[in-house]
Amino acid sequence: LYFVRRAFPHVAMAIEHKRAEETLQKQHDFIKTVYDSAPDAILTVDLENIIIDCNQAAIEIFGFDSKEDFVGQLAEQFIHPEDLERTRVLLQHAVNEGVSKNIEFRLLPMTGPERFVELTAGLIRDEEQQPQFLVGHLVDTTQRRRAEEALRISEERYSLAMLGAKDGLWDWDLNTNKVYYSQRWKSMIGFDGTIGDSPEEWLGRVHPDDLPQLMADINAHLFGSTPQLENEYRIRVVEGHYRWMIVRGIAIRKDGERPHRLAGSQTDIHDRKTAEQRLIHDALHDALTELPNRVLFMDRLGQAIKRASRHSDSSFAVLFLDLDRFKVVNDSLGHLSGDEVLIQIARRLEKCLRGEDTVARLSGDEFAVLISDLQDPTYVMRIAGRIQQEIAQPIAVSGQQVFMTVSIGIALSGTGYETAEEVLRDADTAMYRAKAMGGDRHVVFDQRMHAMAVELLHLETDLRQALENNQFVAHYQPICSIKTGKVVGAEALLRWQHPIQGLRRPAEFIELAEETGLIVPIGEWILRTACQQLAEWHQQGYPDLRVAVNISARQFQNLELPNLVSRVLTEYNIKASNLELEITERIDLTTPLVEEILNDLNMLGVRVSIDDFGTGYSSLNTLKHLTINNIKIAQAFVVPIGMQKENDLILASIIQMAHNLGFEVVAEGVETPEQLNFLRGEGCDMIQGYYISPAVPADRFITVCEGRQGRISDLPGLVDVPVHIPGD
Ligand code: C2E
Ligand code: MG
Ligand code: MG
Repeated sequence: LYFVRRAFPHVAMAIEHKRAEETLQKQHDFIKTVYDSAPDAILTVDLENIIIDCNQAAIEIFGFDSKEDFVGQLAEQFIHPEDLERTRVLLQHAVNEGVSKNIEFRLLPMTGPERFVELTAGLIRDEEQQPQFLVGHLVDTTQRRRAEEALRISEERYSLAMLGAKDGLWDWDLNTNKVYYSQRWKSMIGFDGTIGDSPEEWLGRVHPDDLPQLMADINAHLFGSTPQLENEYRIRVVEGHYRWMIVRGIAIRKDGERPHRLAGSQTDIHDRKTAEQRLIHDALHDALTELPNRVLFMDRLGQAIKRASRHSDSSFAVLFLDLDRFKVVNDSLGHLSGDEVLIQIARRLEKCLRGEDTVARLSGDEFAVLISDLQDPTYVMRIAGRIQQEIAQPIAVSGQQVFMTVSIGIALSGTGYETAEEVLRDADTAMYRAKAMGGDRHVVFDQRMHAMAVELLHLETDLRQALENNQFVAHYQPICSIKTGKVVGAEALLRWQHPIQGLRRPAEFIELAEETGLIVPIGEWILRTACQQLAEWHQQGYPDLRVAVNISARQFQNLELPNLVSRVLTEYNIKASNLELEITERIDLTTPLVEEILNDLNMLGVRVSIDDFGTGYSSLNTLKHLTINNIKIAQAFVVPIGMQKENDLILASIIQMAHNLGFEVVAEGVETPEQLNFLRGEGCDMIQGYYISPAVPADRFITVCEGRQGRISDLPGLVDVPVHIPGD
């Protein structure tokens, strides 16, 4: 070549050029081979992220068949959306800095499953040093990631196994009757070292109540009737108290032989068990008084029935208790005080009973007592008497003394009871009887009561139909001013024209109507009827006449009442001041809701009076803050006028105080001129009662009033016997 170069420099140059080209081509081919056969994917993308070149591995990893299909694709579409943002940022970094860090992302190939890849990218610039392409190098890390994941799981398993070491292990050699207890087993019950190897070390510490079942379970497993031993028991720890454990174990035997080893673990489940027991306790007890609830009571009663049916000498009794007038306490002192009363009563009931008896709170102010294994039937009566005495002791609640009485119904076994419900039903019926007889007593169930209970049920059905069938009527009783002797208004009183039983008075059904909520529609009915009637009288030439309508406690618990009243007033075009609503002291007048209702009524201009004043708990003092117009003194204070000095004094001071507070006073149930005279002397404003007239049907009201008005001005005069007006 040297010679040629000298002799034929052009030829030499050509040859050299050719050789250089060949070398270059070879190098290029070599690189191309390496590039294509590289196990890792290499691809080139432009700055728009379009793939412009790639090697064979890249085609495969992206799930394509040929380079033609792959080139020209948008690279980003193969990146998992959750990884896209991060990958973009790192690639931008490569564009700015020339090379990227390792970027790991999930690749979504065209075909085939998702893979993990690691990408490094380098920047290629053009002649003017402007960024032109990115060359990426992708390594498939899926395998490695899977291995890491597997490692993590096995590590978890390992730590679980470590946790498992919290359990104590034991291994009982049945041939030598020696037990190996692990260190952990010993420390679980508080021993750090010395403990023998006899089964006694274990079984001797198990709670006597749990031991029989544990032994039974061990034997059952040893005899092959259970696949493994499992039992929960309490074990006495060194400090002397018991902790709940669960034992799991398995017997080891050579084929067909009896087992020679029993081995297993003991786990402390005390926390779970106590939480569980708390839940069970809560489900079976009343949260307020901590007494057993209805569910538990019925369960125990069910067991007592079973025992009684198996052994003829085993008998029981159920006492159904209902506090008398508890609602009054609740309504007048508030629910918190009511709760306090219930708690104190629960404690007193417990005091009256033996350990084997059950006292439960069924609901509200209802309690039940189960006297099991009753030997002497007179014992029941003695218990009932003792309960009544205990409850009658004054109860101190929020600075006041409350006096309670209780009605008790008693059902005795031996009447062939089959279910707990039957027994409770009869005790309940007897309790109702005790209530109807005035409360504060106990009554033993007999069959006739059942008939009465059925009757009450019929009454409810009838009452529901009465409204639909227009069987209610309003009667009106005049209210007279003592000063002028004139009738100033009428109290509308509900009557039920029963198709079979004739005219029925509210005392027979109003309580039931309240209990069942029927009082609400009935109450609306009488309000409308009374207002319509008043409008009629106004038109007939008695424009100053007022009407009073009784509103039950139930109606007075709803803000709808003022709206209803307002609508009715507009409907019949009646001045608000001509309508009076009578509410009883059974309503707790101090709750915000009641105060709001009272205020609304006051805004309307409707009058409000307190009915049967003196029979409830409210004092004139509580009334003075409220928007109330008058009080109606209960007939109970009117009857003894002139016969009991003390009563006369009380009555006189009630009238005096009411006047001082700006209330008008109506005396109810005035029947005699003596009563009227006394009331007039004490300055009472109005009277209502048979002395003037009983309640009469609307069409007779005006005539009766005209005829009776003179009765007040006639005084002092002849002592008259009240007229009987048919229909009342
Ligand atoms: P109350 O509102 O205190 O009504 C007075 C009761 O005493 C009426 O009994 C009336 O007939 C009776 N009475 C009036 N003057 C005399 C008398 O001189 N001597 C005697 N012994 N009794 C007299 P009634 O109509 O049987 O009503 C009883 C209770 O039923 C009422 O007591 C009231 O609380 C309730 N009630 C009556 N109508 C309704 C009503 O429409 N709605 C509501 N929620 N309760 C009503
Ligand atoms: Mg009334
Ligand atoms: Mg009254």
